[in-house]
Amino acid sequence: MLPVRKTSKMRKRARRSHQAISAVHLISCPQCGTAKLPHCACGNCGYVNQHTRLKQEDEE
Ligand SMILES: [Zn+2]
Repeated sequence: MLPVRKTSKMRKRARRSHQAISAVHLISCPQCGTAKLPHCACGNCGYVNQHTRLKQEDEE
């Protein structure tokens, strides 16, 4: 025979209180204004910040 439950409703719910998904943090690009992830290069213009720019794939 197996026990009906070993984990109570309270214990299960308390454990799952840590599983919430947080929203993705987006900032607007200082160069072109589109939404981008902080500390990452902008997908539109390639700027990380006002001083740093990564080359985009279509230019060599
Ligand atoms: Zn940009």
